[in-house]
Amino acid sequence: MLYIFGHKNPDTDSIVSAIGWAFFKEKKKEKAKAFRLGKLNEETKFALKEFKVPFPPLLKKSQNKEVCLVDHNEFQQSIDDIKFAKIVEIIDHHKINLSLNEPIFVLTKPYGSTSTIIAEIFFQEKINFSQSIAGILLCGILSDTLIFSSPTTTKIDKKIAKKLVKIAKIKDIKLFGKKLLEKKSEIKGPLKEILVKDSKLYEFSQKKVLISQIETLFPEKLISKKKEILKKMEEIKKEKKLFGFCLMITDIVKNSTLFYIISDDFSPFERAFGKIKNNEIYLKGVVSRKKQIVPPLENAF
Ligand code: MN
Ligand code: MN
Repeated sequence: MLYIFGHKNPDTDSIVSAIGWAFFKEKKKEKAKAFRLGKLNEETKFALKEFKVPFPPLLKKSQNKEVCLVDHNEFQQSIDDIKFAKIVEIIDHHKINLSLNEPIFVLTKPYGSTSTIIAEIFFQEKINFSQSIAGILLCGILSDTLIFSSPTTTKIDKKIAKKLVKIAKIKDIKLFGKKLLEKKSEIKGPLKEILVKDSKLYEFSQKKVLISQIETLFPEKLISKKKEILKKMEEIKKEKKLFGFCLMITDIVKNSTLFYIISDDFSPFERAFGKIKNNEIYLKGVVSRKKQIVPPLENAF
């Protein structure tokens, strides 16, 4: 059986693309099942409930299993024992950063979401799919592209979304998208958990940097707790033995990010983004971690 899963700290795109790809495999009469690598966020729960799709089970081990990675390809972002799994497929819209011993099936496209890649295949191969699969894939696109406002959005994302809207029987895509983003902004749980909920670990010149992102309609709620947040970030940095820990507080309405940084050395961050004052810098027009934060940091490091 093929075990299909997205990255750790799962977001909507990583969950629904795993479900979508498992559905495709089923149509092709191949044995496959979608899994998750962590707790679902409020937005993803809403998306799955809205379209009556059951939550995928948690996967704890991948050793000796045949696996398909969706919405990620870097080992640091995958299941802990990924080195012992047999990776047979990867479907992703992030830059590829791995080397394998064997040739495998890799499908990457520079689209706004993995859901777009998967839905495009459904249309190309004329796969019959239900309202619920269309609905959750649409959620993946809307979530990752922040309703087409992120610079990662492509024409294909919009085109595929338009087709999905019809199958999903959604009357007003803007209204539905807003509802989804409101759920995205619902931040629950202890602060320490919130700060790593959507975090990705990177290695820049052998230095570990964790980059978290909170996309919200209400950034003020977080900004008012800056002192507390920085203290917790310091703790997490120590615990995880990081070189740096960054938090993107992304304002979905203003399309900008307030960037908080805790680091052994601020110079690579300043080379990438400019002067950092009181552990923060305001980045106008920045909303995408993979397109606007990671590449400048890679260069700077
Ligand atoms: Mn993702
Ligand atoms: Mn994605």
